[in-house]
Amino acid sequence: MDPLALGVMLAVGENPLERVKHVKQMGFPTVQMGVPPPAFMTEEAKAELRAALAEAGVTVTTVFCGFEGESYADIPTVRRTVGLVPKETRGERLERAGDIAQFAKDIGSPRIAIHIGFVPEEPADPEYPPCVETLQKLADIAGDLDLGVALETGQETAPTLKRYIEDAARDNVGVNFDPANMILYGSGDPIEALDHVGQCVVGTHCKDGKWPTEEGQLGHETPLGEGDVGIEEFVTKLYNLGYRGPLTIEREITGDQQTKDILMAKELLEGIRAKLLSA
Ligand code: MG
Repeated sequence: MDPLALGVMLAVGENPLERVKHVKQMGFPTVQMGVPPPAFMTEEAKAELRAALAEAGVTVTTVFCGFEGESYADIPTVRRTVGLVPKETRGERLERAGDIAQFAKDIGSPRIAIHIGFVPEEPADPEYPPCVETLQKLADIAGDLDLGVALETGQETAPTLKRYIEDAARDNVGVNFDPANMILYGSGDPIEALDHVGQCVVGTHCKDGKWPTEEGQLGHETPLGEGDVGIEEFVTKLYNLGYRGPLTIEREITGDQQTKDILMAKELLEGIRAKLLSA
């Protein structure tokens, strides 16, 4: 794969066969994929998807976990419903993550990624050790298949994320750095955050957004280059830290506007990429 290869994120639940064609049409060599509907997870469907990816010349760099019952409506809802932190669903979701890892393996992805949820900021919190143990279990499930695990940034501050990864002590765990999420959740300046977790980054979402204006609410996402991230500075810093992995555009809307925004983001990133690689 080329350094800083451009890519795009497909949402959880999307028909991957249709979307792979679209990814090719838009001119991307890589893709991160959400979990597809169950009909696309049979042996036959996986073979068909592998063939479609090969024909399109598109490489899957990550499969993103997603679970029934998750909602990103506002911060308290995310806290209650997202990832492996909520205790009530932890066991069944870990099992489901195993199925997702197998799917990732079967379609040739080197890793899975996850919004693990709101990890406690304080290590003395009694809920913290079980969260570490959960990450260890997830890392071992993926590790048994020779896959990595990437934790999506957003819900926790960078020092907490770094400590969490260190405490789990598994060498297949890294970070899928989404700079907009840090802004949307008000969890810290993303460019400063790279000082803490920059060396752990194995993937990134090129996404932009504005800070929240009310307690408990999320900020709002914008087209790339129109939010508060400072995408050129972000990508440049990541590059200077040694990152050469894919730059995966994420735009969490649907329809024609999504395609327009993705293509605009692609042009913006192509400029930044050309500048960095020719320097
Ligand atoms: Mg993201």
